[in-house]
This record gives sequence, C-alpha cells and structure tokens, in this order.
Amino acid sequence: MNYFVDENGYYGEFGGAYIPEMLYPNVEELRLKYVQIMQEPSFQKEFQSLLKEYVGRPTPLYFAKRLSEKSNTKIYLKREDLCHTGAHKVNNTIGQILMAKRLGKNRIIAETGAGQHGVATATVCALMGLECIVYMGEIDIARQAPNVARMKMLGATVVPALSGSRTLKDATNEAIRDWINNPVDTHYIIGSVVGPHPYPDMVARFQSVISEEMKWQLKEKEGKENPDYVIACVGGGSNAAGAFYHYLDEESVQLIAVEAAGLGVNSGESAATSVLGNEGIIHGSKTLLMQTKDGQITEPYSISAGLDYPGVGPLHAHLCKSKRAEFISITDAEAMQAGLDLCKLEGIIPAIESSHALAVFNSKTFKENDVVVLNLSGRGDKDLDTYIKYFKL
Ligand SMILES: *Cc1c(COP(=O)(O)O)cnc(C)c1O
Repeated sequence: MNYFVDENGYYGEFGGAYIPEMLYPNVEELRLKYVQIMQEPSFQKEFQSLLKEYVGRPTPLYFAKRLSEKSNTKIYLKREDLCHTGAHKVNNTIGQILMAKRLGKNRIIAETGAGQHGVATATVCALMGLECIVYMGEIDIARQAPNVARMKMLGATVVPALSGSRTLKDATNEAIRDWINNPVDTHYIIGSVVGPHPYPDMVARFQSVISEEMKWQLKEKEGKENPDYVIACVGGGSNAAGAFYHYLDEESVQLIAVEAAGLGVNSGESAATSVLGNEGIIHGSKTLLMQTKDGQITEPYSISAGLDYPGVGPLHAHLCKSKRAEFISITDAEAMQAGLDLCKLEGIIPAIESSHALAVFNSKTFKENDVVVLNLSGRGDKDLDTYIKYFKL
C-alpha cells in the first residue's frame, strides 16, 4: 500500500486536480516546479533557517508526566503551540512564501475562515515585504474580529466575500476568481492539505518537519524513533499530515485522526466527515465530504473554528478508506473538558482543535507501556472567549 501521492496527484482513489480550465496554467506551473524548487539547497537552507530563527523550531517533544499518570500510559506532546503565531500553520506559510518568491510572484492571496490561516499568511508577507490580500466571508469577519485586526496590523488587505453564505467557501471562490484574473504575478497560499494537486502534497511536505523532529526527539528520549501511536486532530488535515508523514510507511505505528463531532455525529450539527461524508469533489480535489443526496455541500458545525470544515484532504480520505489510520469523532463537550483538564494537569492552555485530540485519552484505553505522541497543534489564547463562555469563567 502506498500512502504518498502518485504522479497523477492521487492518494489511492482520492485527490487529483478538478479545476476550471482558466486556472490550469497557474496550477500547472506549480505542479511542474514545486518538487524541484523544494529540493534546491538554497531553498532548504532558507526554509530551515527561518523555521529555526523565526518560527522557533524545533518545537519541544514534552513528556507530559501528570497527564500520563492520569491516563495510565506514556504521553508525549509535540508542542506546535509554541510556534510563532501560536500553531503549526506557519510552517506551511513560510514554505509557500519562499516558493512564491522563487516562482517570481510578488502578490499573495489567501482565503481564511476563522482567520488563523489569514494571520499566518499576513505574517510571512510582512516578513518578506510582499503584498497580501486575504479573502474572508463577511459573516466570518464579524465573528473573528481579533484575527481581522491582526491581519490589518500585519499590513494585509482583508476583502469581504459578500456572496452565498458569506463564509469560508465563498471566500475560496473569491480567491480563485482573483487567481484566474492575476495568473502572472500572484501566488495563492492554501492553508491545509486540501485543494487541487500539488497543494495537498506540497503542504504535507512543508508540515512534515513535525514528524521529522519527532523521530530524533523520540530516539533521544526513548531510544527508538517510532512510538506506538501518533494522535492528531483533523480539520483539513495539515497538522495530522505533518505528524503522520514520516510514519506513514511504518505499519507498527498506529495513526489516530480525530474529527469534530460537534453536538454529536447524528445531531445534524457536526463536522465528522469520515462518518458522515462520502466521495465528492471540493476545492479541486476528489475526497470525502459532507453533502446532500444531490451533491450540495452540507454546512458543518464544531465549537472549534479550525475543525469546522465539510471535508478532509485526499490523503486523509485515503488513510480512512484503507484503514491505515483510525478515525475517532469527539464532541464539543468532550473536547472542552479535555482542554480544561490539560490546563490543570500540565499548565498548558490548548487550542480547542488540539483539545479534540486530547479527549481521545478519555475514550480509548492505551497500554501502560505504550508510547503515545499527541500533536498539540496550537495554543488556546485565540479561544479564550469560547472557553470563558462555555465554562462561565
Ligand atoms: C487550523 C488549525 C487546525 C486544523 O487544520 P489542519 O489543517 O487540520 O491542521 C488544527 N489546530 C489548530 C490549532 C489550527 O489553528
């Protein structure tokens, strides 16, 4: 079984590039050049240097003693919450901004839902002095005011998407329209392992620094590179792709992908794509997505903005269908409690996305000697309002 992308851009039966003809030249240029550019020594040197000096890598692999005692197993937290800007997303935007520069693009566009990817993109555009335009649904702009302010402070232009439901998918449509109209000077930075080939593979490669570090860090701490389990939450799937990447072919390492069940898988208010979704095309790739009988995309729901996505990237669709990864759905309530537990046990306030992954320790039993690595994708500062309302703090 092969878990890496094939030459046509597929993971098993999922992936590909289902795009309007007018977008073909842009995507084709990227497809032809991305691997070669990434492998250039000068690219690697600049990428590695920024990851170290700017992002703050390597992030620690922290043995969580009190959480381990409570869960009766050996738990390490991969501390992506300590990355500059507060989550793993910046690993990808650093990689893509360097890619854009080498492709001769000086104008950057992005779409954002909750605003986290918009902030990570605005950050690297400021770093490189490049123009940054972020499309965001009008409703999301109102809901995510702090992130809109951050993007503006970082020098980005935030353009409201006024059509349709005025949320993420409408912002994506606007970004695609912009790219079609500006094929020569513009690069479109996608924020997860979604979109047409080569985006899922390119983003996974940039995020794979996570499992690359896990391997040597575990070797130092446990005397072996491979844990028994790797756990990560899945919205589009980029932090999970990064945490799984160097273990995909190591069949002894069990992979657990955690989705948001929202108010419950059968409540009608959920984002558990692996359970509720079936095959379809979203954002240019064939994957699993939540849709009605006639193929209209269903509005997802999760208390966590980063997991509130109606699909998963094609790699994850393949990991799910082939059963290489176990998919577990966690409700809002389970995640919120697990997040609060981590605060009290370890002095770490996690992003609510990451809290979904943490809740697995309350729903699944591990052996005492199992070594479990959990990718703590982000910190909870951005979620303070949600925690305050939920727990009436
Ligand atoms: C955006 C985000 C996610 C979800 O995105 P993936 O592409 O699935 O990783 C998870 N955790 C945090 C902290 C995020 O900001």
